[in-house]
Amino acid sequence: MAAPPRKRIAVLGSLNMDLVPYVPHHPLPGETLTSSRFGTAPGGKGANQAAAVGRLSRSPDALADGDVDVAMLGAVGSDPYADVLRSSLASCGVATDGLRVLDGQRTGIAIIIVDEPSGQNRIILSPEANHALVPADFAALPDPRPDLLIMQLEIRLDTVLQALAAAKAASVPVLLNPAPAQTLPLDAYVGLAHLILNETEAAILAGCPESDLDDEPGLQRVASLFLERGVANVVVTLGGRGVYYATKAGKSALVPAHKVDVVETTAAGDTFVGSYALAAVHASPDDFDIDGAVKAANRAAAITVSRRGSQLSIPWKDELE
Ligand code: ATP
Repeated sequence: MAAPPRKRIAVLGSLNMDLVPYVPHHPLPGETLTSSRFGTAPGGKGANQAAAVGRLSRSPDALADGDVDVAMLGAVGSDPYADVLRSSLASCGVATDGLRVLDGQRTGIAIIIVDEPSGQNRIILSPEANHALVPADFAALPDPRPDLLIMQLEIRLDTVLQALAAAKAASVPVLLNPAPAQTLPLDAYVGLAHLILNETEAAILAGCPESDLDDEPGLQRVASLFLERGVANVVVTLGGRGVYYATKAGKSALVPAHKVDVVETTAAGDTFVGSYALAAVHASPDDFDIDGAVKAANRAAAITVSRRGSQLSIPWKDELE
């Protein structure tokens, strides 16, 4: 009997070249700082999450043999950064034929200022080609149809909302990571399979102070609000505190983070999303083991924060054991 076709994940989102100064502390207003080091790295939440799905589901010496097929949908400019970003995704097993190359435009840039002592980062985005994707490009989801569509908010919001509508029309489940946070129309939440957001994003989208997320009852209240808006599975990532999840089926838990020596947190959230997506794409809505998915994602993200770098700090499948 022929093996069933491999599940397919599409990631619609940003690709950025990360320009990364490492500093002794984040600069204060008016302060000029000298960095101790400077790095460049392929990034963008979309590309990082695609890379996470690719790496967490395959081994580097058998890129074609992943547990899932993963494709990146996005746009780059016609500069040398575009080639770096495309080849980095390809080296993670991600299909890049859905990438649009825009003549005369720049590829997206992210300036990521890393505070060396804490590993915390602050980020400035220049979207450039990422903002050239318009709603008309996603009147329907591109073929082949994915089994799960992952999106973030580093591309135009109207494009994300159109892709969300196209996915709903095609009954394709969506995992939305609303980062960076922007207020969404309430109908965007209706029928959303998975909402994964960090504390800051959760507070902004829920319209409450971040301190409301300090304890489990507060987390429960905020997660309930998203469930009431129509989301099936809500996951709030809490950095070093771990993760809180709640589902419309009534499951919820606060799962602590793994204790690791933190080197750099860049791409922690993206690793989490990629790992969770791999569990979600293989489950039907009725038998999804969200607890298992969150615990696996917590483990994968803990490895990422214990290493330097962004996309390339995400572990491969064999490093998870
Ligand atoms: P980023 O934008 O830095 O990629 P994020 O803000 O989207 O991350 P976080 O909530 O900071 O997301 O982290 C995502 C997950 O990564 C956490 O839920 C946890 O599993 C893991 N993680 C983050 N920080 C730590 C830490 N200090 N120790 C262990 N695990 C961590």
